Amino acid sequence: MIGISWKREQGPADPLLRKMLAERGLDKVPQWEKEDDVRMAASKYWTGLVKDRDGPVNPVQREITDPAHITEEIKAKAVELGADLAGCGALTPIMIDDGFEMPHRNVVSFIVEEQYTKVLDGSLAIERETYDVYMRVADISTKLAAFIRELGFPAWAHHNGSTQIQAIPTMYYCGFGELGRHGSLINPTHAANFRPGFVTTNLPLQYDSPLEFGVQDYCENCNICRNNCPGDAISTDHVLTEGVKRWRIDMEKCYPFSRLHDAYCHICVDVCPYVFKENGDDDKRAIYKSYMKQRKEDGYRSPNRL
Ligand code: SF4
Ligand code: SF4
Repeated sequence: MIGISWKREQGPADPLLRKMLAERGLDKVPQWEKEDDVRMAASKYWTGLVKDRDGPVNPVQREITDPAHITEEIKAKAVELGADLAGCGALTPIMIDDGFEMPHRNVVSFIVEEQYTKVLDGSLAIERETYDVYMRVADISTKLAAFIRELGFPAWAHHNGSTQIQAIPTMYYCGFGELGRHGSLINPTHAANFRPGFVTTNLPLQYDSPLEFGVQDYCENCNICRNNCPGDAISTDHVLTEGVKRWRIDMEKCYPFSRLHDAYCHICVDVCPYVFKENGDDDKRAIYKSYMKQRKEDGYRSPNRL
């Protein structure tokens, strides 16, 4: 199967980021030049795992008589390794990077939640948590792929170190939730405060279905993320992609805050009321209220406190 989804280059290879740096006469990304650069250590960690994303497949293949049973086993293994939620789906070309030939037909998706309480500790704490979760994701996907290969089926780990998977459509079809106005997928339990990882495989799996619970209707009238975005980067009107509604983020307006500013920007996700709205988590509701009080004091569209 050949992928058809355009891939944005990440990190220093991102052409838009390079253009914006050149326009400003900068040769380095300010967000990544802080003395306490948590990103660099994290990047070394997941790059070190790339060699293990694939490996030998056990020649003695487990007989799969019931895909539902093995699917439960795989999801339970993902949770045992540290995931908060796992789902499965059939790969389609929109889930794969443009032009990449994927030898597998199925995907296991999982997420690891970020600790919401970090929003009260400033942008560096939020950034540190993000990269800590990304490292755990790399670890889980590497171990889960090895577990599936041990069952006698090919499997690759996909994480920040190396991936050919498009996170949003894959998570959507694996039943994690709906796309919010802020451009991230919202899950009823974990909101959008998580990071995903993937394993592609030919192991027969039972597939999950898209999960819709009213997010996109709610977003039509909410606008909290848009009204808090320091770059005014979140659009008012939606577009349709493969029949799925989504709101565009203008990256030229986002990058001055998410890349070219000292403070890490995760504001659009952290101001979203879904952090407590569906799960009824009173602790998160209280944290949300304190965080929004801070944002009101700072004038809503300000960057996060350092
Ligand atoms: S803050 Fe409001 S508009 Fe933005 S994604 Fe969340 S629910 Fe939707
Ligand atoms: S990361 Fe920050 S600047 Fe970018 S869309 Fe979200 S709130 Fe706006």
